[in-house]
Amino acid sequence: MPVIPELAAQTPGLIAWRQQLHAHPELAYREHATAAFVAGKLRSFGLDEVHTGIGRTGVVGVLHGVRAAATAADGRIALRADMDALPILEAGTPPHVSTTPGVMHACGHDGHTTMLLAAARHLAATRRFDGTALFIFQPAEEDGAGAAAMLADGLFERWPVRAAFGLHNDPGLPVGRFGTRTGPFLGSTCEFYVTVTGRGAHAAEPHSGADPIVALAQIVVSLQTAIARNAPPSETAVLTVTRIEGGGAINVIPAEARFEGTIRCFSMDTQALLKRRLHEIAEGIATAMGCRAQVRCEDGYPVLVNDAAQTDFAVGVARGVAGDAHVNAALPMWGGAEDFAYIAQAVPSAFLVVGTSPSQPLHHPEYDFNDAAIPYGASYWVRLVERALPL
Ligand SMILES: [Zn+2]
Ligand SMILES: [Zn+2]
Repeated sequence: MPVIPELAAQTPGLIAWRQQLHAHPELAYREHATAAFVAGKLRSFGLDEVHTGIGRTGVVGVLHGVRAAATAADGRIALRADMDALPILEAGTPPHVSTTPGVMHACGHDGHTTMLLAAARHLAATRRFDGTALFIFQPAEEDGAGAAAMLADGLFERWPVRAAFGLHNDPGLPVGRFGTRTGPFLGSTCEFYVTVTGRGAHAAEPHSGADPIVALAQIVVSLQTAIARNAPPSETAVLTVTRIEGGGAINVIPAEARFEGTIRCFSMDTQALLKRRLHEIAEGIATAMGCRAQVRCEDGYPVLVNDAAQTDFAVGVARGVAGDAHVNAALPMWGGAEDFAYIAQAVPSAFLVVGTSPSQPLHHPEYDFNDAAIPYGASYWVRLVERALPL
């Protein structure tokens, strides 16, 4: 059962929605016009409930199947799209180019929103399912953990679900294909900030000071042993120092030097281990060299872990839409983070990608969501609801 013919026939109108969203991008938690667009569409489709302002600018649509509304989480599933754009100056010149200089939909969230709206319209008209589907349009995926904000706002207390599903576009995969993997799929992030404090001195008199530059250099090199010598060889992780700062005059040993970087992991245990080693290595080396190190870590999004049963199920649905050979259920792990990870921590979840190649890469200033993917993503959403909540 390939792409749903009605959705294929509606594609020109859906492209118009997508391009309208592309022309009016909004940054994290400022998705006011986008949220109003989404809520207006959901109401016009006749959804049973439409709620705005969830997690600040998030929107939730509730749709019941032909039978009575589900009364327990067992009969409900959630589908999630994201609405925010990026602080990037659009370099492309499509007719629907961003009308807000410096802000653009460079990650295809305009496409994600459109595909989920298309599915909501189709399902509201057909309702060939037994239970309740929750349509989640979240703010601030790129920066600001909008999914976590919606969860903190009582998303799954107000509307308990037994499973949740997310879909992102993938410019590395041709249109008409899907991909995913079971278990850890997208990485966690953790940013760290280290200040090494010594004692300033004349450059020609190092013995009268404590040089934070030399201590910092030792720390940066030694940090690379944390993955090579402390993390299990089966684990994949990255620890990268991205910025070093210290000193001013060429003839002065400064009193302080700083560096920053990022840790990416596919298991929260490994992230905890690397953070511990960062503290031990930085503080230990600094002390040994007569300095002090102050380490501050800021956790970003957690690892996105796909539930095995839900992922198997979603892969089956995607195969029904795209054909068996066009769904890769064993994609490699990907270092980019996704805040659907918070939803996947809350309920068993599956996150898939839908192909949009040919396309510029995500976050490229000439990126423009490939509209040819719309009927695939929308058909996937519709079949997912119909098969998860069968009559
Ligand atoms: Zn992005
Ligand atoms: Zn994205």
